[in-house]
Amino acid sequence: MHAVFLKPKKEESVRRFHPWVFSGAIQKIDGQPSEGELVKVLDSQGNFLGIGHFQQGSIMVRLLSFQEEPIDENFWKNRITESYRMRKALGLIIENRNNCYRLVHGEGDGLPGLIVDVYGNTAVMQAHSAGMHKIRNILAKCVVESVPEIHHLYYKSEATLPFRNENAPADGYLVGGFSEQFVALENGLKFYIDWQHGQKTGFFLDQRENRVLLERYASGRTVLNMFCYTGGFSVYALRGNAKLVHSVDSSAKAIELTDKNVALNFSDQRHQSFAEDAFKYLQRYEKREPFYDLIVLDPPAFAKHRDAVSNALKGYRRLNRKAFEMIRPGGIIFTFSCSQAITREQFRQAVFSAAAESKRNVRILHQLSQGIDHPINIYHPEGEYLKGLVLWVE
Ligand code: SAH
Repeated sequence: MHAVFLKPKKEESVRRFHPWVFSGAIQKIDGQPSEGELVKVLDSQGNFLGIGHFQQGSIMVRLLSFQEEPIDENFWKNRITESYRMRKALGLIIENRNNCYRLVHGEGDGLPGLIVDVYGNTAVMQAHSAGMHKIRNILAKCVVESVPEIHHLYYKSEATLPFRNENAPADGYLVGGFSEQFVALENGLKFYIDWQHGQKTGFFLDQRENRVLLERYASGRTVLNMFCYTGGFSVYALRGNAKLVHSVDSSAKAIELTDKNVALNFSDQRHQSFAEDAFKYLQRYEKREPFYDLIVLDPPAFAKHRDAVSNALKGYRRLNRKAFEMIRPGGIIFTFSCSQAITREQFRQAVFSAAAESKRNVRILHQLSQGIDHPINIYHPEGEYLKGLVLWVE
């Protein structure tokens, strides 16, 4: 196994179990490891620190273990079984009520570079690193062997791998095969999941608990679900007895899925959808009497990289300001940022500025994060990507 030596003092974060080795921390590499190969990480004195997947780029090693142990099929199976056991123990898998959840959340589950979402008897697996991509067949076997309910595994990594080599990934089934659209159950609500053509693995599981919270406050309210994607928040609002729900997304395909999901659960007329850009939609409302008293803002990541943070913060500020300006007194706003590069504090500052500009009286009711099946490794604070605030606006 090739060895990666760190510069003096640069071993400190690895000794505190941070799973990433940045290129700037590396003193020398013994030999020429290939993309995705296992390497040993050593301090400048040659003492063992950990084993991980090597990859050219800013993060050069994703650490899998801090012990000298074989990284073999048994290792992968143990980690995946452990993740499954945790989901089960947390009560996420309930027959006839909840059969979709994230089984593996990368660094949060000690498996950097790997995502596995489960929808009933199908797992959708995504590799974010060359190392995980290379062993996709072994991982698929381990998932199916560890989780008795899973009979099909769809691999979906074309959009998530930074690949520039001949190893071009091809999306498709690695286990079983199943071409129909699947209806998953989340807290007793039905959702069509289209993992082949949908965004990410087909559904945003990370908002599950925040949708439950929204249901609690929806009764009698007129709701705007901005950036609705498959309509998760809309369907929960309807079950929570919302008076009326408007869903907005710029993607026509997302609006089609939202309409289908609403129809799958309700036959009443309380829902309307709009395939339109968020800012255009909000502009159309600018001159009207305040209409909504519950607004959800769940935009895509405005900052995909560190250098985009300043513009992203302006975007959050502008968007939230519009919501503050248009919400009725006694209204509630659920506002989110899923940008990993933006801290909770920065997001709160952006929302704070928006509130001040609107001159509204605003109180924070809840501070939200991602669901429990998207755990945050305590040694990897970057894993806290989803930040949300629930606000009471007078
Ligand atoms: N709230 C959703 C997830 C939102 S993901 C859920 O719970 O499932 C972000 C969504 O924003 C995507 O569906 C994307 O199509 C949409 N989007 C991106 N840019 C947009 C824009 N400018 N205006 C409206 N929608 C946009």
